Amino acid sequence: MKSTDKQLETKVIHGGYDSKDMLGSLTAPLFQTSTFTFDTAEQGERRFAGDEEGFIYSRIANPTVQLLEERIAALENGERGLAFASGMAAVSSVLIALTKANDHILCSSGLYGCTYGLLSMLKEKYNIQHDFSQMENELAIKAQIKPETSCIYIETPINPTMKLINLRTVVKVAKAYNIPVVVDNTFCSPYIQRPLELGCDVVIHSATKYIGGHGDVIGGLVVGSKEFLDSVAMSTQKDIGGVLSPFDAWLLLRGLKTLPIRLDRHADNAERIVDQLRRHPKVVSVYYPNHFDHPDYSIYQQQMERGGGVISFEIDGDKQDVQRFLNELSFIKLAVSLGDAESLIQHPATMTHAVIPVEERLKMGITDQLVRLSVGLESWIDIWDDLQKALDNL
Ligand SMILES: *Cc1c(COP(=O)(O)O)cnc(C)c1O
Repeated sequence: MKSTDKQLETKVIHGGYDSKDMLGSLTAPLFQTSTFTFDTAEQGERRFAGDEEGFIYSRIANPTVQLLEERIAALENGERGLAFASGMAAVSSVLIALTKANDHILCSSGLYGCTYGLLSMLKEKYNIQHDFSQMENELAIKAQIKPETSCIYIETPINPTMKLINLRTVVKVAKAYNIPVVVDNTFCSPYIQRPLELGCDVVIHSATKYIGGHGDVIGGLVVGSKEFLDSVAMSTQKDIGGVLSPFDAWLLLRGLKTLPIRLDRHADNAERIVDQLRRHPKVVSVYYPNHFDHPDYSIYQQQMERGGGVISFEIDGDKQDVQRFLNELSFIKLAVSLGDAESLIQHPATMTHAVIPVEERLKMGITDQLVRLSVGLESWIDIWDDLQKALDNL
């Protein structure tokens, strides 16, 4: 289906696929194969030379994976998509493709723990420097751009404090300096935020989260210009080799079909839980973008469709109290990750962000009191009941 003229709710189901091409199979087939045969030696030569279209080997391209790539590109309104074995394979392939030794990366003031780890490694091995920025206005961004800055790397909302960065402001400065803007859009999915439409250059997803949505796949996706992603496909993706398996692509295609309805339920539930948390005496602060007293509420209104399914909140007490609260929960599962049908809760200071030195962690607002809840698809009444009982016990 040519999908540029359809709504997102239609594209998640039909984008890039026509059953007529596949013997009428309603669901896209799973091409669980490592390699593809050539009819003749001459055909093999033409495929390797790029003179004839066709598949060669699944690390280079696979029809099931390719469909997922076309579908995510349609959803983000980008020219090309690429699928990876994990969100981190996507992040590392993009950052390595965009930098060389002695470059500089300007980052949002909070990053996913392993992305932070990757930046530390790039600094140690290749002297690729990085700085963190609140990116609160054009001047602040300009002040941190260096001659060696080769990309701006952003998470918004910032995990786990849910601070937002105004992508249009960043794009305005970045365009003036001709620096590409990369956005990790994992927390939103294309249903909630589409950075390419705001002028950003590259979007990354940990598809493990909302795109898959069922807690059964690890995967990563990237969308951007054909020129840039062609170069990633033939360099860091092909030669480092962190490609997605066909079966995982097939599961992600299945998960994607319900993305809009799942995210509406995640967000409906989250809004109700936020209201309840804010009234509970043992809760000292609640961070959720779609709330009028969130400090970045005006940014929320400009670039996000809904608040999403992740809430962070601080509990009145010390680390032991927080751990006691977490241990008291019944069906809300104690686990990292997010975006699954099941509600998941975790303690950033000792789990996802434990690798970050304490001082930097506190500067990011990640205190020992902070917990992050990925609100699931269960009844919000039951989710609140579970939280309330554990809070009341403190
Ligand atoms: C989970 C996550 C990643 C890493 O993705 P994996 O699929 O676990 O490799 C990157 N960025 C964000 C914001 C994430 O939540």
